Amino acid sequence: MSEASNKPHALCIPYPSQGHINPMLKLAKLLHHKGFHISFVHTDFNRNRLIRARGPDALDGFPDFRFYSIPDGLAVSDPDATQDTPTLCKYAPINCFAPLCDLISTLNDSFALGVPPVTCIVSDGVMSFTLKAAQQFGIPEVLLWTTSACGLLAYMHYSQLVERGYAPLQDMTCITNGYLDTKIDWVPGLLDMTLKDFPTFFRTTDPNDIMLNFILTETAALPKARALILNTFDTLEQDALNAISSTQPHIYTLGPLHLMSNQIQDSRLTSISSSLWTDDASCIDWLDKKESSSVVYVNFGSITVMTAPQVIEFAWGLANSMKQFLWIVRPDTLAGDRAMVPQEFLAETRERGRLTSWCSQEQVLKHPAIGGFLTHNGWNSTIESIASGVPMICWPFFAEQQTNCKYSCVEWETGMEMNNNVRRDQVEEMVRELMDGEKGKKLKMNAFEWRKKAEAATNPAGSSSVNLDRLVHEVLLAK
Ligand code: UDP
Repeated sequence: MSEASNKPHALCIPYPSQGHINPMLKLAKLLHHKGFHISFVHTDFNRNRLIRARGPDALDGFPDFRFYSIPDGLAVSDPDATQDTPTLCKYAPINCFAPLCDLISTLNDSFALGVPPVTCIVSDGVMSFTLKAAQQFGIPEVLLWTTSACGLLAYMHYSQLVERGYAPLQDMTCITNGYLDTKIDWVPGLLDMTLKDFPTFFRTTDPNDIMLNFILTETAALPKARALILNTFDTLEQDALNAISSTQPHIYTLGPLHLMSNQIQDSRLTSISSSLWTDDASCIDWLDKKESSSVVYVNFGSITVMTAPQVIEFAWGLANSMKQFLWIVRPDTLAGDRAMVPQEFLAETRERGRLTSWCSQEQVLKHPAIGGFLTHNGWNSTIESIASGVPMICWPFFAEQQTNCKYSCVEWETGMEMNNNVRRDQVEEMVRELMDGEKGKKLKMNAFEWRKKAEAATNPAGSSSVNLDRLVHEVLLAK
């Protein structure tokens, strides 16, 4: 039997989807590096997926970096597919609270097994039910919102959208009749936007809509946390950060988190991965044989589901652009089955295209062969692209991806927006423009400048590194 050290002990609990698990794991690694004992909490569903994707020792961890899992209480339909977002958002807070409290009690009783008592909770911003657990155990809690600051600021104004009568919608024709072009120029700290640029969850006619109400609840909890952590950096989003600070003054920008965590030289940490799908490592070998900036990378993240016509338009647009491409199509990307990627397209692009089901995106984005990224603008993808100096074609799907798209195209000028109603001629034209055109060159130059700023923020004297130390001393270790 081993005795626990008197290390501080952070319990890290992400919202259970890929885009939330990744930044939380990076944050957990950073805290471990700062001397914390880490308990990282998955749902049973994702624990099983991780073991299937990465092997039986995927969650072995090591003595002061341990993994646990709790049930989410949901029925499993497809054990390898992304879980339905509204169902998770509705039931995770209800079903996970008691198992989480039981786990904390067990950890607090495990001193003899080498586990110090839990001293703080680091929770996903949209898992605010965990604040009740922190209160119950008398420990501080900080929230990691895995969105951009601009996305979070927009969410924080959902209550205003309701009060001012913009949400819920009168009827769903609003989405196509020009109503989304309504200007929203009254949010301090946000660019002048239209309703279309707002996160999509207000696009409902139902006042009881799960996602609309979920956002209202989760943003209202923000001031109750001891501090807010964001995966962004100050120079990227200063105005939005200033505006958020009027609600939650204790903000710690630690991004890009992957640049921060990649600096840790500890092979035990580097070997821990959180991909819920198995990476196809051979696509890196494929990229190694390509010329610099010659390949367009196409990936719509872990949640986006596409219709057959959309897939067909993307496929022929890519084929007709005559550019080389690496296109990731998850097994559950298509509302149906994989056979919907046209056979003729596969035959025609065999020499210059590579289709696979999952990759290590960080590795791909920093590969010199990548010249551009056709993305859904999930925040991780967006900040990973910025940090790698890769310009984007933006095709936002849902949530605050709309806001990230707006900022990428207008504020940071590293992206160009593709019409939501995807057409092959537009895909072809935009891919050519991104890879060869004047606009593409301009976006690439801007992306390169942002990359330098991201690197500056994460160097040892940079704002994100300084903020990490401040977070540890001012909040997590404060008495
Ligand atoms: N990702 C990856 N390989 C893939 C697709 C995605 O490693 O083939 C990672 C990507 O690097 C990012 C996360 O999965 O960290 C996706 O998060 P994001 O916020 O971009 O989108 P979401 O999946 O939440 O829509």
